[in-house]
Amino acid sequence: MAMGNRLLDALPRAVLRKHKDALDPIEFPLKKVLHEAEAPIDYVYFPARGVLSVVNEPDPGDVVEVATIGREGFSGYPILLQADSMPSRTIVQIAGEGYRMKAGVFRKMVDSSRPTRDLFLRYMSTLVTQIAQITSCNRLHEVQQRCARWLLQTHDRVDGDSFVLTQEFLAQMLGCHRPSVSVAAGMLQKEGLIEYARGAITIRDRKGLEQASCSCYGFIVAEYQRLVGGGMERGSIVADRRANHSRNSRNNRTEAD
Ligand SMILES: [Zn+2]
Repeated sequence: MAMGNRLLDALPRAVLRKHKDALDPIEFPLKKVLHEAEAPIDYVYFPARGVLSVVNEPDPGDVVEVATIGREGFSGYPILLQADSMPSRTIVQIAGEGYRMKAGVFRKMVDSSRPTRDLFLRYMSTLVTQIAQITSCNRLHEVQQRCARWLLQTHDRVDGDSFVLTQEFLAQMLGCHRPSVSVAAGMLQKEGLIEYARGAITIRDRKGLEQASCSCYGFIVAEYQRLVGGGMERGSIVADRRANHSRNSRNNRTEAD
């Protein structure tokens, strides 16, 4: 039976069978802190629906997203890398559900099977790429493109086309000020790509949103396809965007927000 999390579904069958009872089904309520900065990591989490954000707070109140994790990944990854905590916090950005596993059990599971460890390490490589790409994106690309990129990443990880999101949260996720996000979301709405009402966003034109995004979205998806396997994304965007990446980034380059 499919678990709904791509890493769990990609595990060797015997490994999943052996550890299935150690996976507790749980809800991910909005804004719940799953991993506090510098605190010991007791559980790893596998979303089946919803979005987790890894955020940094370089100065009090200044929150910025460094990575997003959904059904294609897992959180609590320092456990895989022989660390027991990290300086970033992980919060639930879009409510959903999934599974949790005790950190010690996860460590044993990974140690017991080479293909399992390799799978998680390949995912880690895609996550490092995502972090690097988002960092560059926030520095170089226009807010509207970044906004489209973030909405696509979120759309991939929810069921349906609508999700609850405040502009304040979106601004934090994009590392910019709220008025800039208001203008960017307003323009995407005017073009008929999204609808924004009463704190909920609805994706109206997926294809158009892909075209409105910078190349970072396609680049992140292509890297996941290459190292873990297809199926991270909902749209038809494919790896050939990656080939255009350098050219696009030059064209897209603007002053950071
Ligand atoms: Zn970008």
